[in-house]
Amino acid sequence: MKPMIKILAVGFLAAGVGVMAGRMLAPKPDPIPTDPLGKLQYGNKLFANGKLALPPVDEMTRYQLQTEGQKPFAVVVSCSDSRVPPELIFNQGLGDLFVVRAAGHVISVETLASIEYAVEHLKTPLIVVLGHSHCSAVQATLSDKPSAGHLPQLTAHIEPVVQRLRETHPHLKGDALLERVIREHVIHTIQTIRKRSAIVRELHAVGKVQFAGGVYDLRTGVVEWLKLPPELDGELSTTAHRGKVSH
Ligand SMILES: [Zn+2]
Repeated sequence: MKPMIKILAVGFLAAGVGVMAGRMLAPKPDPIPTDPLGKLQYGNKLFANGKLALPPVDEMTRYQLQTEGQKPFAVVVSCSDSRVPPELIFNQGLGDLFVVRAAGHVISVETLASIEYAVEHLKTPLIVVLGHSHCSAVQATLSDKPSAGHLPQLTAHIEPVVQRLRETHPHLKGDALLERVIREHVIHTIQTIRKRSAIVRELHAVGKVQFAGGVYDLRTGVVEWLKLPPELDGELSTTAHRGKVSH
C-alpha cells in the first residue's frame, strides 16, 4: 500500500471506531413507560420540562374513538382549579383519561358513581387523586371567614382532615398547615373512595385497580407522588410511586 493510501485508510478506520465508540458512550434515551402510572409520570415530566407533545386530536382520532369506544387508562380525580388541567399536565390526549373534577376533589355520590363507571364498565385500572398547591378549597376550609351558598357543604368534606391535623400537629400554622392538609386530604380522598365504594374495594382487592395520589405544584408543574398507606398500595403498583419521584 502506498504511504498516502495507508494514512487515509488508517484515518478512515480511526474515524469509524470513533463514531462507534461515540454511539456506545452516548446516553440512551429512557424507554417510554407502558404501565398507567409510568405513562402519567413520563407525561408530567414532559409537561414540567416545557416539552409538551400532545397525541393527535385530529378527525381520524375522533372517528376512531367514536366508533371503537373509549378505553381510558386512568381515572383522575382532581380539583376543578383552572390551573390544574389533567390532560395537559400529564401530556395525554383524547380518550386517555377519565377525569372527575370537583373543587377540592371532594367525593359526592355523583363523583363516586363516575369513578365506579370507569373502573367497572371501562375497566380503567388506575385511580389517581390529584391535589395541588395553594388549593382555594383547602384554604377556604382553613379560613375563619364564613362562606356563602353551597360552599360550606363542600368544605365540610375537608374539615375532618383539618381537625385531625390540628389535634395531632398543633404546632402547624399558616402555609405549613395548608401544605400538610393538601397532602393528607389526597390520602383521605383515596380512603373515602375505597371506603364508600364496594365496587372499587373489590376490584382493588383482586388487583384490578390500583391507587395513586399526587400533589401538583402550580409553579414548577411537577406532580409529587405520595407514599400511600399499606391498605391503599397494591400489587400492580410500580416501585416509582412508593416514594417521591424525581424529575
Ligand atoms: Zn384546588
